[in-house]
Amino acid sequence: MTQNFSELGLSAQLVAALTKAGFTTPTPIQAKAIPHQLTGRDIMGIAQTGSGKTAAFSLPILAGIAGLTGRPAPMTTRALILAPTRELAVQIDEVIRTLAIGMQLTTVLVLGGVSRHAQVQKIAKGVDVIVATPGRLKDLMDDRKVRLNETRWLVLDEADRMLDMGFIHPVKQIAAAIGPRRQTAMFSATMAPEIAELTKSLLKDPVRVEATPPATMVVSIDQRVIMSGSKAKRGVLNELLADEGLSRVIIFSRTKHGADRVTKNLAVDGHKAAAIHGNKSQNARQAALKDFSSGRVRILVATDIAARGIDVPNISHVINYELPDDAENYVHRIGRTGRNGATGSAITLCDGTERSKLRDVERLIRRTLPVSGDLKVANDTGVVPGTENADRPDRPQRPQGQRSGAQRPTGQRPQANAGRHFSGAKKAAIMEGRGDRNRSTPPNAPRQPGGEAAAGPAWWEKKTGEGSAAPKQRWNKAQKDAGRAKRAQDDRPRGERAAS
Ligand code: AMP
Repeated sequence: MTQNFSELGLSAQLVAALTKAGFTTPTPIQAKAIPHQLTGRDIMGIAQTGSGKTAAFSLPILAGIAGLTGRPAPMTTRALILAPTRELAVQIDEVIRTLAIGMQLTTVLVLGGVSRHAQVQKIAKGVDVIVATPGRLKDLMDDRKVRLNETRWLVLDEADRMLDMGFIHPVKQIAAAIGPRRQTAMFSATMAPEIAELTKSLLKDPVRVEATPPATMVVSIDQRVIMSGSKAKRGVLNELLADEGLSRVIIFSRTKHGADRVTKNLAVDGHKAAAIHGNKSQNARQAALKDFSSGRVRILVATDIAARGIDVPNISHVINYELPDDAENYVHRIGRTGRNGATGSAITLCDGTERSKLRDVERLIRRTLPVSGDLKVANDTGVVPGTENADRPDRPQRPQGQRSGAQRPTGQRPQANAGRHFSGAKKAAIMEGRGDRNRSTPPNAPRQPGGEAAAGPAWWEKKTGEGSAAPKQRWNKAQKDAGRAKRAQDDRPRGERAAS
């Protein structure tokens, strides 16, 4: 195994820049990819953020550019690196600048969401490297603000994500504009069939290099799942965040709307958090990332796409507030922690509707994740779990408290209200009350013998006048509107109601 960067064939100047950046030993993907690229070969790299892939494709380009004489012609670039998201492009640009210390290298970031003017002006003089998102670069090509006829190196980073985000056409058009006299490196976290197809159409006789596959990569990260009704997740999250050991936390939500809701609730619950998702302006996203990396805020709430490529060191915990639709994203998410050999922790909150997604994840990572908590607080249908079949004629009814000979699953307590019917308001109040009770118990606290939670009786189990009053019921807007409509309907005279 190669021990240092000189042995990979890199110049003393680049090795010095690497040493200055604190990189003395090549990562596996660097050790595998760099020597081939230095001999001019195309590369198909299967590697994720965190593997050191940015330096793996940047170093050979810098070595190549260092060997060229003269300056790039106006409106041209010698190398073009395409990335799916603005954040990833910004990070790539930073890595390249770090590694190019001592070189007279010019780089330009070509990103959507910010003014074109400065980008166009820099390109007009001719540059060594453009790091771009495909959409904006294609705009500039169409407006004849950039020419790619002198580009010798093309990199497609996170190609799988570029396909997911619908960049396939601009990417192909950009590659076609560069022409065949180029060296191409493509990196992807997976080798999905569409990626194999793209490899065939864009790369010439590529060498395939692979970093540790996802399934084994996540072994060093402590992973666990907390089962929780969807409405109780907020309380569980607060419990978790009460532990200061969660020093730098990234919370993933499935949607932009969900990310906003989680961020708002965190603020209400007294936690400083920044949010990053596709509806935020580029400046707001950069500011959020800066606050998070500098430690000014402890929590970053993110969606999958916005978080692609985020490389913030020392993230102690990743919390999946919701499971991702695509199991692959679970691997990407948890890879934000435990980077470069550090230890990390990933906690997934899973409600009843997400069980199949959890199974997909476990199948992908080929591990069964340890589970704690329970789903009895509330589920999305508003039915108290365990009572779903109580009034179904095709199932024999069993007296409360008996369990057809079988053992209850570990940690599951008897359903105190199974088979009983409550009004919607009462049901919601019971669920709310359980949520409060669970909130006073750490989410993974062992249950007492007999299956009861350690925290004493809930409000409805106390005698009148004993303990606190029932928790105040909160209604959301839709519920309030429905209630108002129903009251208006009930207030009308009977004859009028019958006529309508
Ligand atoms: P990347 O996969 O390119 O996003 O890189 C992930 C992280 O690994 C970044 O924080 C880099 O600074 C770091 N890194 C890259 N190469 C090395 C190396 N040879 N040794 C140590 N850290 C590295």
